[in-house]
Amino acid sequence: MASVTVLADRFGRIATDLRVSLTDRCNLRCTYCMPAEGLAWMPQPDQLTDDEVSRLVRIAVEQLGVTEVRFTGGEPLIRRGLVGIIAAAAKLTPRPQLSVTTNGIGLDRTAAALKEAGLDRVNVSLDTLDPARFHTLTRRDRHADVLAGLRAAADAGLTPVKINTVLMRGVNDDEAPALLRFALDHGYQLRFIEQMPLDAQHQWDRHEMVTAEEILAALQPFDLRPDDVSRGTAPAETWLIPGFVDAAGQPARVGVIASVTRPFCGDCDRTRLTADGQVRNCLFATDESDLRRLLRGGASDAEIVEAWQVAMRGKRAGHGIDDPAFLQPARPMSAIGG
Ligand code: SAM
Repeated sequence: MASVTVLADRFGRIATDLRVSLTDRCNLRCTYCMPAEGLAWMPQPDQLTDDEVSRLVRIAVEQLGVTEVRFTGGEPLIRRGLVGIIAAAAKLTPRPQLSVTTNGIGLDRTAAALKEAGLDRVNVSLDTLDPARFHTLTRRDRHADVLAGLRAAADAGLTPVKINTVLMRGVNDDEAPALLRFALDHGYQLRFIEQMPLDAQHQWDRHEMVTAEEILAALQPFDLRPDDVSRGTAPAETWLIPGFVDAAGQPARVGVIASVTRPFCGDCDRTRLTADGQVRNCLFATDESDLRRLLRGGASDAEIVEAWQVAMRGKRAGHGIDDPAFLQPARPMSAIGG
């Protein structure tokens, strides 16, 4: 194995968690993410090939100290080479933790193959239990597919199966308790995510956002208790749910990712790679570092290591959403990788 350096920034944070976006395309059109007509998709030649993705993941794991790799998008399950990309990552030494964030569509057909390839876990996005509301929210009639995907993930052992939910005022913010009950009944771990200013339409409004405080108030019937396990670098603050256990027989928990009202930038351990090979040191970064140009220009692993390290050194102390000078990044969430 090559010698390992790390992805450190000027504030002492070390990135060990790599988020890889495999495509900017998606088979849903969630109203809070992209417009009905979709977006101007990344031209195919701009997208990294499977081998290019695998090379960068190898460099990150074997030479830059990355220990966790999450594949996302867009919708990662629509990337044809996904199983092969995961299989290649699973062969690396040291073996990274491998997960996928997905809308769950098609997971019923692919969960077993993904597990076989070496995938450890999945996060499935689900914002409502109501099929008609799902249709309105995502502009697609695929609610049953998502539920089938969740079941298949659990059956395949892609556990713990986590559900990501974004609550929106007047849209689905009445569903917090029902979603939690659903997750508990099925042995899934639910995490609510505060809506962030990353929509393609730039319509995010702080006052419309459902805050962590409101989410926790809505969950009062569950009598949540502070968690006894340290959060570490995890984005979700978790609470114990008395009287419930999870699929592994452990005390059940619910998470809230309060990126806006309770930012956790000081503990951030993320580095991000877009589907067209750009390193982003923050979801909200306004600049990127082009690894694709290096890859395609014949750069050595050492040159890529150096460029990735330089990109991370420039990471800002915080995302600055609260700063009056905050600028939403040009790339929407779907093209960064959520
Ligand atoms: N297609 C996959 C999925 O649905 O999980 C992966 C990409 S999607 C961008 C990842 C997650 O980001 C989803 O849970 C989605 O709900 C969430 N998301 C999208 N836009 C968001 C926003 N503006 N604020 C917070 N979360 C957002």
